[in-house]
Amino acid sequence: MNMRDTQDVVRWRTDFPILESHVHERPLVYLDNAATTQKPYDVIEAEARYYRHDNANVHRGVHTLSQRATEDYEAARGKVQRFINAASPSEIIFLRGTTEAINLVAQSYGRSRLREGDEIVISAMEHHSNIVPWQMLCQQTGVRLKVIPINDAGEIQLDAYQRLLGPRTRLVAVSHVSNALGTVNPVQTMIELAHEIDVPVLLDGAQAIAHVPVDVQALDCDFYAFSGHKIYGPMGIGVLYGKTELLNTMPPYQGGGDMIRSVTFEHTEYNVLPFKFEAGTPNVAGAVGLGAALDYVGNIGMETIMAHEQNVLEHATSLVSSIPGIRLIGTAREKTGILSFVMHEAHAHDVGTILDRQGIAIRSGHHCAMPIMDRYGVPATARASFALYNTRFEAELLAAGLEKVIELFN
Ligand code: PLP
Repeated sequence: MNMRDTQDVVRWRTDFPILESHVHERPLVYLDNAATTQKPYDVIEAEARYYRHDNANVHRGVHTLSQRATEDYEAARGKVQRFINAASPSEIIFLRGTTEAINLVAQSYGRSRLREGDEIVISAMEHHSNIVPWQMLCQQTGVRLKVIPINDAGEIQLDAYQRLLGPRTRLVAVSHVSNALGTVNPVQTMIELAHEIDVPVLLDGAQAIAHVPVDVQALDCDFYAFSGHKIYGPMGIGVLYGKTELLNTMPPYQGGGDMIRSVTFEHTEYNVLPFKFEAGTPNVAGAVGLGAALDYVGNIGMETIMAHEQNVLEHATSLVSSIPGIRLIGTAREKTGILSFVMHEAHAHDVGTILDRQGIAIRSGHHCAMPIMDRYGVPATARASFALYNTRFEAELLAAGLEKVIELFN
């Protein structure tokens, strides 16, 4: 540890069993948190406990286990509701993740409401999962995509955004935080501007949920999507938040069990929210694990986590940017703990491979955001991304690892 690493982070690290492991005989330095986060004991044990003691199908049986499983599942929904301050638990739809949530809105809201010539506004820094579902909708309906440009620092240009909002705009879909750059977007202002012309806004919160406080009522966003695995929860569980009045007018996304109230061969009556959008057996254990993850984060407190991650980010940024031949990609004023960069000497994949030999896990590639790579004229970046358990010492190990890359390539 670095002298300036706090006792807090030392303690938090002991909650994550994987952080004790070694890779290539070096202590693991896990800096790929934007791809997925590691899981604390609380989450691992909550899932295991559910399978050991309560496992049954939900909303179906009168027997005790089924009732317990249903209670666990609905309790997890309540935890999500409180975590993002939704007005009601029925506004929380459990899905596989952000990708499925955005596809749901595109196919349900988009297909039922949008017509040829209507426009959807996204930004230049979107993840593919907030681009491709809209492109598919465009092909199906003749809707057009409009893209908000960014400046060289990786910030949305609000004046250009305002010019894109027009009489044909039907939806704005933007990331709360960019996965490739770390930029925190001015979503509050963007929502206010869209609402002035009665346009709803979907926020892709995949990279925000674990790093900034999210209050959907204060934001007044119409949809908010996130994945459990980005906030120390399990994979395969995620959330779509939607305002009741919007969700109520939307047709189901998939048909099957649980999403119905009654079925005959002539007619099906759909269930109420949120079940209308949860066809089939849900990932109950995943929801339970996500609930445990939100409890874990809530106990530490988002303000504490943010302050810690900013401290590590600032240290890493100053160390890495002073290494000759490194160019940072994404230097916005407001950022979460994501450090994307290219190296003059080495391709991002070589950087990733050489760091891995030192036990340091970073991401190299286009980060499922190819258009933003084009915007910067690079095929790929190396990306170190921080979570609550990362330390200033690990930032120093990263910088030392990058110095080794330079040595090897010179
Ligand atoms: N949006 C952003 C900004 C992301 O970073 C990611 C994942 O990296 C996604 C969407 C997709 O999330 P998932 O693969 O969990 O559905």
